[in-house]
Amino acid sequence: MSVETRPLSSGPAAAIKTIAVVGGGTMGNGIAQVCATSGYDVRLVDVRSEFVDRALATIGKNLERVAKKQEWPAGRSASILGRIHGGVKLDEVRDCQVVIEAATESFEIKRGLFQAVDAAAPADAILASNTSSISITEIAAVTRRPERVIGMHFMNPVPVMQLVEIIRGLATGDGTYALVEDLCRVLGKTPVEVNDYPGFVSNRILMPMINEAVYCLMEGVASKDSIDTVMKLGMNHPLGPLALADLIGLDTCLSIMEVLHQGLGDSKYRPCPLLRKMVKAGRLGRKTGHGFYEYPEGGGRS
Ligand code: NAD
Repeated sequence: MSVETRPLSSGPAAAIKTIAVVGGGTMGNGIAQVCATSGYDVRLVDVRSEFVDRALATIGKNLERVAKKQEWPAGRSASILGRIHGGVKLDEVRDCQVVIEAATESFEIKRGLFQAVDAAAPADAILASNTSSISITEIAAVTRRPERVIGMHFMNPVPVMQLVEIIRGLATGDGTYALVEDLCRVLGKTPVEVNDYPGFVSNRILMPMINEAVYCLMEGVASKDSIDTVMKLGMNHPLGPLALADLIGLDTCLSIMEVLHQGLGDSKYRPCPLLRKMVKAGRLGRKTGHGFYEYPEGGGRS
């Protein structure tokens, strides 16, 4: 059966036709791309029209790359892109069965967003957050439907990475979990169930490693290239931790370390001062063109 033939699922996700993605940055545009490629209609919302345009342009470019590599029939990538409708108003969520929030990693921003989305979305819609570390239980508590709030933690880059951590908040209902698990499979991903603790599993383990790599750089233990080479060749990691931090975004890495530090109350999670300094300088990694490495326009590490 073609991926573009409905229904896309015969399981709990069968009722889903339209998915809203709120936040069209690094993760949001990848999530929108994967949802549209699987046949869903997508509403992509960001705060400014230039951010929406940038997200749509990135998705278009990425789809063209996949089309070439996988030898898609002419017009397929255009028809996928045509399923994504961009906008700057949260009202776009009004006819969606699932809303996936992928806005900036800040509880203040997510609190405001979930209150507004809760008011605008259909009462039975599921509200998912792609947060890397913020408590799903706390996000759910600002809505009137905590049983329908859940974490859907995609990995970066979304079209490539297999895993989605599904995070159950304290009030997340079994029906909500089952639907989101089924949706992940329709999207071609492998879901893994995780409970709601700071950083979940992925970032509880990954971020302290990245933070420690930044300490190694700050203390002069080795150069950035040496640190990354040790972890690539010695531990078989596809990317070194500093290059990975640039890919994730240093602001996102810092926010996650703050959540681990605060939420677990252990000094071993204190963010490295060099990480703070880089973020203050606006050197956020690939997205700003400068991080631990330089990224000439058009991407690619130098
Ligand atoms: P990003 O900075 O690339 O993009 C965030 C986007 O959210 C921006 O385009 C911004 O304009 C938009 N935004 C901010 N406030 C908004 C609002 N009120 N309404 C609509 N849009 C708004 O960030 P990102 O890396 O895409 O991260 C997004 C979320 O995904 C975060 O919660 C992050 O922790 C999580 N995440 C990130 C990664 C990663 O590797 N970057 C991996 C997994 C999860």
